Amino acid sequence: MGAPTTPATIRAATTEAHQRFQDLKEGQNASYIPVLARVQPERFGLVVITADGQAAEAGDTRSEFAIESISKVFTLARVLDEVGAEVLQKKVGDNPTGESFASVHALVVHDGKPLNPFVNAGAIATVSLIPADSAARRWEKIHETVCAFAGRKLEVMDEVYRSESATNQHNRALAWLLDSSHTLYSDPMEATDVYTRQCSVGLTTYDLAVMGATLAAGGINPLTRQRAVKAEHVPRILAEMTMSGLYDNTGTWQYEVGLPAKSGVGGGILAVVPGRLAIAAFSPPLDRFGNSVRSQRAIRHLSEALGLNLFAATAGASPPTR
Ligand code: GLN
Repeated sequence: MGAPTTPATIRAATTEAHQRFQDLKEGQNASYIPVLARVQPERFGLVVITADGQAAEAGDTRSEFAIESISKVFTLARVLDEVGAEVLQKKVGDNPTGESFASVHALVVHDGKPLNPFVNAGAIATVSLIPADSAARRWEKIHETVCAFAGRKLEVMDEVYRSESATNQHNRALAWLLDSSHTLYSDPMEATDVYTRQCSVGLTTYDLAVMGATLAAGGINPLTRQRAVKAEHVPRILAEMTMSGLYDNTGTWQYEVGLPAKSGVGGGILAVVPGRLAIAAFSPPLDRFGNSVRSQRAIRHLSEALGLNLFAATAGASPPTR
């Protein structure tokens, strides 16, 4: 059983997790997006923020990196709010694919239904479901939602956007495949471009933790008090994160850590303990599934040290943090 989660124990465990893994040298930066290959692999940030807004930080927590696939969580939130869960279930799906995040095979064997909003095909389809009369308006809505979750204005990292746009042929192919199966709901190249833009948003590890704390607090940003997503949709988002947040390694993650989480190839991972807190970690080198090695280790360490595993009978037994 973990220590009670008082602000002091959270701070101590955060510092310890950071120290323990900062010299770990496993993994490789994502290289299929050229600009990500050049991010310093030593960078490593870890932040915990409770549902009532108290933060513990260690390392490189205030410099920006690309959100990448973690953006899929917030676009999902926006689409749930605008079109509802049933439409999303029917048109995108809510189950793991068991395959890598850019799999063409998974799409083809399910007649073009992506199965979930966190694989690339599902994320592009989710973007296309945002009601809007132009790509610019669709992007504006996504941007509005990520900023509401973060509690500040986040910007696209131009260099990342340009690098991804020049090398996203595979995602463009996925969009055309969706379109050919009638499972895409806007122009394919426009949907891919808006998706690429959302992946290029820059944020800090601290921002990411605020975004997670907003989910932990049922959709209300604990710092701004602004609602970012309807409360009824938060359990659905967390369920998706539980099933598909770390791609085809999500089962192992749940077996070892037991928390809804979402990773991005920029090196970020966000984990949420509903009603209690969020953990955000950032470190660029990835394992073969595309998940940050140090981020996974640090979050696992915190889950064990603070007794956060949701599947343990003791989870939630600790006194609240306030
Ligand atoms: N922009 C990246 C892509 O589309 C995001 C993938 C990821 O973070 N897993 O390939």
